[in-house]
Amino acid sequence: MSHNVVEIDCAALAHNFSLVRRQVGEGVRIMAVVKADAYGHGLVEAARVFDRAGAEAFGVATVEEGAALRRAGLSQEVVVLVGILADAVDEVVLQRLSPVILEPSIILPLAMAAAHQGRELGVHLKLDVGMGRAGLPPMESEAVLRRIRDYPSLRLDGLMAHLPSSDRRDSPDTAGILATFREVVADLGTKLPARPCLHLANSGGVFLHPGTHLDMVRPGISLYGGGPGEVRDTGQRQAMRFSTRIVQVRRVGANTGLGYDHTFITQRPSTLAVLPVGYGDNYSRRLSSRAEVLIHGRRVPVIGRVSMNLTLADVTGIEGVAVGDEAVLLGGQGGETISAIEVAGWMESISYEVFCLFGGRTKRVYV
Ligand SMILES: *Cc1c(COP(=O)(O)O)cnc(C)c1O
Repeated sequence: MSHNVVEIDCAALAHNFSLVRRQVGEGVRIMAVVKADAYGHGLVEAARVFDRAGAEAFGVATVEEGAALRRAGLSQEVVVLVGILADAVDEVVLQRLSPVILEPSIILPLAMAAAHQGRELGVHLKLDVGMGRAGLPPMESEAVLRRIRDYPSLRLDGLMAHLPSSDRRDSPDTAGILATFREVVADLGTKLPARPCLHLANSGGVFLHPGTHLDMVRPGISLYGGGPGEVRDTGQRQAMRFSTRIVQVRRVGANTGLGYDHTFITQRPSTLAVLPVGYGDNYSRRLSSRAEVLIHGRRVPVIGRVSMNLTLADVTGIEGVAVGDEAVLLGGQGGETISAIEVAGWMESISYEVFCLFGGRTKRVYV
């Protein structure tokens, strides 16, 4: 049995959802983004919390994730955000998922699958108005809309775009992208049979750029308490906590090389806590001699290389540290907390990756 455990605080997820609701009001729909196994928090468990909290839609990455939400009995709109290929269209229709169209070649297979099953399928069209990643250039959007309209089995439910730097208050391009999106939509508006749902905002948009709220928002990271970026003082609570237990306490002299490559050499007689966790548990090797962990409510440094299943923490001077004691790698212990944003800093990454890594490998428990 592993000594490592990831605890997910369901009350924190619900609380974070309520912060988004307060921010956007009742008139704006909230698509809870639960892709990537709910950023490592567990797809179905997290979606159930957001369902009870009032989520009007869910955003997933894959058709399999969408099907899992349906199996769990969730009936809201489920939007497959990252595009689909022709071999998935039957399942998309069968599961009543809403695909995002990035690419015109998928329109005919979708229309045929929907017609074949005697269903009308709602789709969303993604425009690239400045993100510079996936989506249709605005110039092509009119022709693509016309193609969608030509098929009675397809219904345009949404028009969307994405923001590249909304996690900064002084984001250089958010206002421009919003303006371009509005222009393109106004242009297309006269050619649409009914007004589709307009959506643009991720978490950064929700909290830092209220003008981007439009008809629906798509928060992800803020629901899990990971910011992002400058989104910090909103009262978010981090839902994930990652802990392990000490398997050995050892005393070593000064000038002792520790672990692989002896990248750390003790300066003083030291007490070490041996932790049965490492990059095999997605505790990244980039955290070597950089991270801190909580032991007896105190911050202590990780020293030497993080190896596959072992990591050392320096507990010199902390009284009474014993085998079996808990060590917290992410989250709170006593009055102290290690945040995902902090771990991300040590890893030269972002809180998103920390959640996906830590939540993706270790047994999860829901509290
Ligand atoms: C992942 C994703 C989001 C959520 O972004 P956060 O920064 O986590 O809030 C929103 N929209 C799309 C299209 C996404 O892929």
